[in-house]
Amino acid sequence: MMVEERLSLRVHSCRFMSQLLVTGGAGFVGSHTCLALLQANHRLVVLDNYVNSSADSLERVCDLVGLKDRDALKVVQGDVRSPDDLNRVFQLSDKPIEAVLHFAGLKAVGESISSPLHYWDINVTGTRCLLQAMQSYGCKTIVFSSSATLYGSPKTLPITENSLVDPTNTYGNTKAAVERLLRDLVASEDSWRVACLRYFNPVGAHPSGTIGESPQGIPNNLFPVITKVALGQIDKLKIFGGDWPTEDGTAVRDYIHVMDLAEGHCFALELLQREDPQLLVMNLGTGTGYSVLEVVKAFEKACGVNVPYEIINRRPGDVACTIADPTLAQKKLGWRTKFSLDAMCLHSWSWQKDNPNGYIN
Ligand code: NAD
Ligand code: UDP
Repeated sequence: MMVEERLSLRVHSCRFMSQLLVTGGAGFVGSHTCLALLQANHRLVVLDNYVNSSADSLERVCDLVGLKDRDALKVVQGDVRSPDDLNRVFQLSDKPIEAVLHFAGLKAVGESISSPLHYWDINVTGTRCLLQAMQSYGCKTIVFSSSATLYGSPKTLPITENSLVDPTNTYGNTKAAVERLLRDLVASEDSWRVACLRYFNPVGAHPSGTIGESPQGIPNNLFPVITKVALGQIDKLKIFGGDWPTEDGTAVRDYIHVMDLAEGHCFALELLQREDPQLLVMNLGTGTGYSVLEVVKAFEKACGVNVPYEIINRRPGDVACTIADPTLAQKKLGWRTKFSLDAMCLHSWSWQKDNPNGYIN
């Protein structure tokens, strides 16, 4: 059986079919999750202002799913901070929206440090506006995209959900603030159902290479930089630091395939809708860390291309090593990551090779 067929069988195991709102659904993690949710027969309304994405991603999602009923995916261009836009989406479908998957937000650490007001506005005020609208429409179930960034520089590894929340940058502060707000909501009323999914490093692309990560401007993250170096669009990879306290001196991260992450969302949503946990806070990672050099070597081997690199100074705000303890998600959701580092490399490469400029033709 092909990987894609197996994947589709797994996502079909989501039992509930709901009308859902997906904010930021045109983005990297959002578009892959929309695919998984549509394959599980949910009906979606997406709200996105395309500040870091393109409507093309959702067109391609429809093609991949073979969506006949275009009403199953409605798309509204708008802002999560706008009460008018939120009213539009909550009034759009004939069935009430039962739950929200909230991906909309900004995620560039460096930019967050130089533009804190903007980051707090989009990430925190945007979420507050969304929650306000949810409350007034009686929709009280939300899956929130949190981040391992909020652990900062962990004292011990692997990182559990009980590890200290101690962000080292503005982006992480906004994620921690939203988690606190969500805790306050849950404490205020029994009817809220909240999942805070703390992602480690999402990478890869749909195995078809049809949808993937399409950052606007110069990429910051490791995988988009590597694929652009392999394509010749960037001269060489600059590795930030060769003097970290790790085996080969380069920093270690827990990379998770975006389709595994998408499936984690389906399972978390299903658990919120099926049982009573008011607040689920869980790591989504593989539990295995790879250094930057290990990723480069794996990429070269899996894809048969060269990735020239040089080692330069550490990047401000970086930490040596983050590795998830995914035990809680495994136990509570019955979820396991399936994709290897080789698959993450291969799928990122096929997306980038076939779409050298992302969604911009
Ligand atoms: P992305 O930038 O690809 O997707 C975010 C989407 O939100 C984009 O489509 C963007 O246009 C939209 N958006 C931004 N501001 C908006 C607004 N005000 N109103 C409506 N739409 C808006 O990012 P992603 O990698 O898919 O990340 C999704 C979520 O997951 C984000 O909240 C991010 O902080 C979080 N996260 C991402 C990572 C990662 O490394 N990719 C890691 C941990 C957590
Ligand atoms: N990295 C690097 N060169 C780059 C981009 C990233 O060496 O051009 C390193 C970075 O220092 C970190 C790892 O790759 O150790 C993953 O970085 P990314 O920005 O993808 O995610 P982060 O872990 O910072 O959220």
